[in-house]
Amino acid sequence: MPSPVGHILLAFTISGVPKSGDVFTRWWPVLVLFAAIAPDLDFLPGIIVGDPNRFHHGPTHSITAAVVFTVVIALLFRSLSKAQMLVLFLVYAGHVLADTLARDLGAPYGVPLFWPFDSHYYIAPVTLFSNFSHGTHNDGLSSVIQDIFSVHNLWTVAIEIAILGPLLWLTERYRRRTS
Ligand SMILES: [Zn+2]
Repeated sequence: MPSPVGHILLAFTISGVPKSGDVFTRWWPVLVLFAAIAPDLDFLPGIIVGDPNRFHHGPTHSITAAVVFTVVIALLFRSLSKAQMLVLFLVYAGHVLADTLARDLGAPYGVPLFWPFDSHYYIAPVTLFSNFSHGTHNDGLSSVIQDIFSVHNLWTVAIEIAILGPLLWLTERYRRRTS
């Protein structure tokens, strides 16, 4: 998986960086950030049982989950436009697809993209991002946290900023020109 930094940069590349004069609701940037990291909430049940990685890269990392997420958010926030719902779907699905583009050192490799219709895990043949280390199965919370704050992960974040930073800058420039 890419780091949360990579996921957030990609999310704002998709949604556009919110500006103070935007007609969007106050909650919009929060919703975009939430959609960007929501698939990784599958760490929570593992943290509760003392094995943070136990359920990671499960059903929340699928297109079906992106649809369910968007429907639930649309029901909770009735004022969202169809365009905003589409953006939230794309941000969530973008997280899942970004995970298929990152190195994965532990089987099963990648994500169950088409769960529950297909149980295969998908990962790109050539990965663009490095892996964001977060321990492996059966590692307790403290060794997972130690792994997260590793030098390796600094490199992972640096690569993501090098790739996604210019992409975000270009899309913002394009948006400003066309608005
Ligand atoms: Zn993920």
